[in-house]
Amino acid sequence: MSEKNLRPNSVYISTPINVLVEGYYEQNITIGEVRTHGDFGLGTFNDLDGEMVVLDGVVYQVAADGTVVVVADDILTPFACVTFYQPETFDEINEAAMISRGQVSHLPYETFNSLLERLLPSPNMLYAIRIDGRFSHVRTRSVPKQENYRPLVEATKDQVVFDFYDIAGTLSGFYTPPFMPSLNAPGYHLHFISDDRRQGGHLLSCAIQSARIGMQHIPLLEVALPVTLDYLTADLSRDTRKDLQKAEQE
Ligand SMILES: [Zn+2]
Repeated sequence: MSEKNLRPNSVYISTPINVLVEGYYEQNITIGEVRTHGDFGLGTFNDLDGEMVVLDGVVYQVAADGTVVVVADDILTPFACVTFYQPETFDEINEAAMISRGQVSHLPYETFNSLLERLLPSPNMLYAIRIDGRFSHVRTRSVPKQENYRPLVEATKDQVVFDFYDIAGTLSGFYTPPFMPSLNAPGYHLHFISDDRRQGGHLLSCAIQSARIGMQHIPLLEVALPVTLDYLTADLSRDTRKDLQKAEQE
């Protein structure tokens, strides 16, 4: 039995997300360190250089030019959120079930969101969520490399939006209770990667044809605080909730 199985699983956050929202894009946490805390999750890279997808222990970078690469352990991240994924429940969405509900070809994003909400036993718990499926449409974004200290809400104005049609892939991410907005994006935060690992990004919306939704509740949170001059001297007293919502959902 490895060490990770001897202690209870937690959601690990490498840096509180409000630090990222305030424009601090250079921390000293390596991908290698992140991988000791989980094999599943999401994040970004130093200088806000693209979107991170962590799936089955592999860390992928979706760059703003749309390319996807596997990331080496010595690369740094200013924000990552991972866990060791051990799903407890599965729910299937398929065409037959949708037709019986009167939704002919796909599950629209609003319906998908409310379905996910119904699957949560409690809104006050952390959940890891993995959705493997076929999508009639997936809209994602990635962000090009940024100057340090440029606020996230400004940086994401440079985001590049991708539309993928009729694509198989996986959404990986978390549900975070709404009262933790300084730690992670509240509600659902999902990143996408295609089955061929050539396309992906931060999910903006999707329409599902068929999917298998795996969920795991995780009653423990581990938040690392960076030991960098930037972090130690930052003014983090501002309520970043509105900025975060704008940066993550639009
Ligand atoms: Zn994201």
